[in-house]
Formats: sequence, structure tokens, C-alpha cells
Amino acid sequence: MAFQYRLYCTIHGYQYVWSDTLVTECPINPADPINQDATCIVNQLRPAIQFAPTTTSANLSQPIRMGDIYYDANTMGTLSRIGIFSYCEKGVTSYSVEVYDKTNLKSLGKKSFSNKDDYVLNYIDNITQIDEPFAMLEIFVNVSATISKKKAFISRVILYTY
Ligand SMILES: [Zn+2]
Repeated sequence: MAFQYRLYCTIHGYQYVWSDTLVTECPINPADPINQDATCIVNQLRPAIQFAPTTTSANLSQPIRMGDIYYDANTMGTLSRIGIFSYCEKGVTSYSVEVYDKTNLKSLGKKSFSNKDDYVLNYIDNITQIDEPFAMLEIFVNVSATISKKKAFISRVILYTY
């Protein structure tokens, strides 16, 4: 998801695909012949903003608001990926992180993780496009746990844009 490739399929023409590695197949039909010499990178994700949530742990099955950030698409670019530096304690089956656009009242992305013991950079990809150039984004976390009061932790949120 770090790069957007443009490739030329001899049947479907130019195709655009986000990927971490070189794309060599047509997204419509992998068997199609590709003109490999025409493949190029047209966009690249960059970590535009990194912030620490105001609340750094969650231990409830109901979503808790961990923090928020003002997002300006005019100066910060198109939001495409959100990195969550997070983990959960043993006893937590999984924890869900949701990014919510409070300005436009819609969820931009949600994903569950279950990594234990120490912080890992987790990604929420395929972020829903923001309607307005300005939006207040909120981060919500809830946990699914077999032992009560066990926690999930978030130390950083990173917004990737292009
Ligand atoms: Zn094709």
C-alpha cells in the first residue's frame, strides 16, 4: 500500500494499483499481458502527521474515544492509511480501532488487531475519502477480552497521505 503503480495492460489499458511491492499483474485479470516497460510509480504514501492520543489505554467492550486531530486535506494531502502503534495484554482476544470523521459523521475505517506484549505498527488501509477539506478525526478503541479490565494500548497514531 505504500506506492501507487500505473501499469499498462494490453487489454484493459492503464491500471492503477496500490501496493508495497512491484505490481506485475493486471488487477482485472492476472493472466493479461502487461507491458512491463510502461510500469511506473505515480504516488507514494508519506507519514504526514504523527500524534499521541490523549487516552492511551482502553479496557471496555464499548468504544472509548482515545484522541482526535484536525485534518486539512488542502495542506496535508489525501489520507490513505492510518498507522496505529499499539498492542494488547494477555487476556484480550482482540481490540478494534476505528477512525471516525466527526465533521461528516461517518466512519473512515475500522480494523481489529490482536498483537500482544509490545507495540507494533498496525495499519488501517483503504480509508474512506473525506468529503470536506477540513475534518475532525476521532480515534475509538474497544476490546474483546476473556479477562475483565485487561487493556489495549495506543502510544501513537500516524496519518499517511499522498
Ligand atoms: Zn487487463
